[in-house]
Amino acid sequence: MNTHTAPSHGTVHLEVTDGIAVLTIDNPPVNAGSHAIRKGLIEALRSCGEVRGAVLVGAGKSFIAGSDLREFGAPLAWPELPEVIAACEAAPFPVVAAIHGVALGGGLELALGCDYRIATPDAKLGLPEVSLGMVPGAGGTQRLPRLTGRIAALEIICGATRITGVKAEVLGLVDVVAEGDLLAAAKRFLAEDRPKRVVADLAVPEEDETALESAAAKALHKGRGRPNVAEAIRLVRASADPDVVSVLADERAAFQKLRLSEDAFALRHLFFAERKAGSVDGLDAKPRAVSAIGVIGGGTMGQGIARACLAAGLPVTLVERDAEALERSLGALREALQAKQARGRLSEAALTAQLKALSGTTRISELTSCDLVIEAVFEELSVKVPLLTELDATLPPETVIGTNTSYLDINAMVAGLPGRSRVLGLHFFSPADVMRLLEVVRAETTANDVLATGLALAKRLGKQPVVARVAEGFIGNRIYAAYRRRAELLVLDGAAPEQVDAAAEAFGFAMGPFAVSDMSGLDIAWAMRKRQAATRDPAARYVTIPDRLCEAGRLGRKTGGGWYDYPEKRPEPSAEVTALIADARREAGITPRSFDAETIQRQLLIAMVNEAALLLAEGVAQRASDIDVTLANGYGFPRWKGGPLWWAAQQPADRIEADLDALGMAICHGFARGPVSDTLEELKG
Ligand code: NAD
Repeated sequence: MNTHTAPSHGTVHLEVTDGIAVLTIDNPPVNAGSHAIRKGLIEALRSCGEVRGAVLVGAGKSFIAGSDLREFGAPLAWPELPEVIAACEAAPFPVVAAIHGVALGGGLELALGCDYRIATPDAKLGLPEVSLGMVPGAGGTQRLPRLTGRIAALEIICGATRITGVKAEVLGLVDVVAEGDLLAAAKRFLAEDRPKRVVADLAVPEEDETALESAAAKALHKGRGRPNVAEAIRLVRASADPDVVSVLADERAAFQKLRLSEDAFALRHLFFAERKAGSVDGLDAKPRAVSAIGVIGGGTMGQGIARACLAAGLPVTLVERDAEALERSLGALREALQAKQARGRLSEAALTAQLKALSGTTRISELTSCDLVIEAVFEELSVKVPLLTELDATLPPETVIGTNTSYLDINAMVAGLPGRSRVLGLHFFSPADVMRLLEVVRAETTANDVLATGLALAKRLGKQPVVARVAEGFIGNRIYAAYRRRAELLVLDGAAPEQVDAAAEAFGFAMGPFAVSDMSGLDIAWAMRKRQAATRDPAARYVTIPDRLCEAGRLGRKTGGGWYDYPEKRPEPSAEVTALIADARREAGITPRSFDAETIQRQLLIAMVNEAALLLAEGVAQRASDIDVTLANGYGFPRWKGGPLWWAAQQPADRIEADLDALGMAICHGFARGPVSDTLEELKG
């Protein structure tokens, strides 16, 4: 079917000088490979006339940042990318791709369809299709191995890794790395009368079979359960088949099928949702400049935040309570940086620079040259409020103050501060230098430019921001708490913890809720429950099992056991816990029922969906898609399911309502019901 449903974006300019054609791809902002670009390229290639060669180059910041994903959910219009590549290969002159910025997905496949590739040293090249539920569909799995070998191709394709121009040259993917004027270098390259060199005609380099097997096994393990990863591996391996035409057709068919799969739709939803999440409708304030950071509290979070800032090139001054605590924190930070370097994750030069950029003090007065100060001290109002008061009194008015509180009411925390408009929440996740999610919390009094500064910081640190209003647990922890509560209710009603975990993992969560609790420690939620005890709805069901575990000293892995025992460091169902659960059921007068995996999964998901609807109704989250971004980036929700609300939007609406009714009325008395239908309509629209 050759209908075209998406709008056409972009154009291609052709200019011929001194026998060399330059085809400039122009589709702001990132030169996405759209239908108009594909059509423009074919027409320009046909219009070159008699030339010695042609250069494909991107206008603006990039070569081609990837295909226009908006087109992928519908039939693709002619010409499709393989036809453009066929035109490059059939051209009677050599074609060079001149790559700067990024060449990803279809962009790199187009470059692979050229005879030669020249790139700037810092250009980023990659085939991220597997992270979007697909496989490369325009020869990427066939042409890349012909240049780099299959082992490197497996790593690049199955890991969705981006490599630099310099690394691409080492691997043979790029012919020349050009410093300076890229277009001039490409023209000079062609001026040397280059012959045609069709990549698809090259032989795949011989490689050690055992090494190839192990690369394939590694890729399969990393992408376990993902059919598109298995398909990508199969196709890369098949590149050794001399019948390249058949394998290319095979690859195209796999791509066409996968791009319309449920996984691909869900992953595209997250792709766009993640871009949107970093923006606030109607916010046009400019961020304040940030070139130095203060971090107060050098514990788990403070150290992680410091590492994240240092890695982004920001100097950090760490503050601790006394000289001893400061020395301990700085020592641990330095050790962590050195370990990173020893593992090859940090160059010697970067290590030296980061160590130099790290300093420490016990005095707040030494933070006056910082543009942004983030507190990560104990989660207690009695510690945080005096600290914020001192910061507000000491720091220049333009300095932004962030609090990393997980649950406390930021509005109440800042109410007495004259400078409360410069305070916002910056809720990092542990480990803060690894986890992508950053909840940027907008208190009632947060100034717009302060909020914009938080969003700009997230970008600078390579984080995924989501904007939240103040609420106990903001977006993520509040939804997670509802999910965990539901898991506990399932156990009270008859399921075993390991059964609940297995069902969650079968759905795609990296770990089940009880395994997660044991890993992060049961005491944090215990403290929260104690805090909430006075305001708890007396009509709502309350599960006493986790309190009993904590009272028995079972706080999780750190105390040798929690929901599970850990005899060999692996979780094992615990007889003590089973007895404790039986007691709780008896006391609550519950006759245990059995639950199948699907019922467990649906109950867990419905609990999340309901809490999400409440958060939207309360205005804590800006948009439904932000909730999906939060869960997928900070809580191990399987990305290929698109997030809890995307998942729900794919279900028949009456089924979701029926599930809510069942949970609300039959199982969970006092269960607040969110306006779920409106929420899901928003996503479908
Ligand atoms: P932690 O106990 O590991 O570290 C807190 C540090 O703050 C300690 O080193 C302590 O000496 C220091 N400190 C306390 N009072 C201080 C003061 N007045 N001046 C300077 N330093 C002081 O705690 P953490 O796990 O790093 O948590 C810190 C904050 O981050 C809390 O608000 C917590 O809720 C939040 N948080 C924690 C996590 C997590 O997973 N641990 C995740 C997100 C947010």
